[in-house]
Amino acid sequence: MKPDLGRLLEGVAARIIAQAEELTALDSAIGDADHGLNMKRGFEAVLADKANILAKPLPEALKAIGMTLVMKVGGASGPLYGTLFLTLGKELPEDPTLADLARALTAAVEAIKARGKADFDNKTMLDVLGPVARHLGDGTATFASVRALAHQRAEATVPMKAIKGRASFLGERSIGHMDPGARSSELMITTLCDELEA
Ligand code: ADP
Ligand code: MG
Ligand code: MG
Repeated sequence: MKPDLGRLLEGVAARIIAQAEELTALDSAIGDADHGLNMKRGFEAVLADKANILAKPLPEALKAIGMTLVMKVGGASGPLYGTLFLTLGKELPEDPTLADLARALTAAVEAIKARGKADFDNKTMLDVLGPVARHLGDGTATFASVRALAHQRAEATVPMKAIKGRASFLGERSIGHMDPGARSSELMITTLCDELEA
């Protein structure tokens, strides 16, 4: 893999910003209607810092993205997505293989779990990120299968009852709605696949 980080960054940021209203609408059903706004603010800040980020080797660039997301996204998702990128930065070598990516994403999922005191099936971003990390390591992953899994796992949060985050305040009433963070994770992963495949 020799990814063009600038293109990946622009692709993911553009997708999150384009879908901000959808993410906020999902959060208005089971949260406080700000997930799209939070993510848009974070990725606009990442884009504004792009030249600085791209001047760094991959691990340092990922850490810089993580720090910006922690500072700018806010809410519950800011520190958690920050942890995702900071851990990827800590775990990935400068020129990663697919095996490196699988291992680093697995470490990031564990770090998010620890940070948010959450587990799988709690109706969060972990329900997309965890299965994708496992699939990347199972030796059968293709761009199409990763995209399909991310989509399927985001959809799978619809019937779940939220155990963590604001949606958990709704108890049973959180059932029947997609988790906004699961959807934003799906968007990031599918866009990464699109860009890497292009
Ligand atoms: P807030 O809930 O503070 O307004 P956001 O709306 O930006 O923050 O993000 C909400 C998303 O964060 C949820 O949809 C969920 O995916 C994720 N989330 C919230 N709490 C946790 C947690 N403890 N562990 C993992 N993910 C979480
Ligand atoms: Mg919210
Ligand atoms: Mg909020």
